[in-house]
Amino acid sequence: MDNCIFCKIANHIIPSSIVYEDDYVMAFLDTSQVTKGHTLVIPKKHYDNFLSTPHDIVSRVMIVAQRIGQIFIKDFKAKGVNILTNCYEAAGQSVMHFHVHVIPRYIASDGFRLEFKKNDELKSLNLPAIANQIKENLDHNKD
Ligand code: AMP
Ligand code: ZN
Repeated sequence: MDNCIFCKIANHIIPSSIVYEDDYVMAFLDTSQVTKGHTLVIPKKHYDNFLSTPHDIVSRVMIVAQRIGQIFIKDFKAKGVNILTNCYEAAGQSVMHFHVHVIPRYIASDGFRLEFKKNDELKSLNLPAIANQIKENLDHNKD
């Protein structure tokens, strides 16, 4: 993709602080560090987001994300790690090339917030019906 900034990083057209690279995957520091070491892991080939990426590439990307997360715990002495990916603008995706954030957490009060807040307006939802809807679609969309 000509105008994709992460394609340019993957192809070494623009510089980045690379922490890992193989034929399929690259990992580099996010220029907006939310905590020290905040890393992005990407496939070198362009896919818009996690949802449109082939299984084997998702697997390669996640294995590198896992290894970097392990290093944050073991060697950076982080107390925790968030591993997350945003899909589409509505979910906060700003660069439309699949990437996984690996965010070390040193203290709970580091300013980074990912809150799963209970929404009281949704307490009357029919959970078994929703579960069934997802399950039926999974059954019909096997690949
Ligand atoms: P997202 O909001 O999930 O799409 O995250 C995109 C991330 O890419 C943001 O955290 C940006 O700080 C980061 N980013 C954008 N441009 C660059 C760049 N040239 N090098 C490293 N990180 C970047
Ligand atoms: Zn790209």
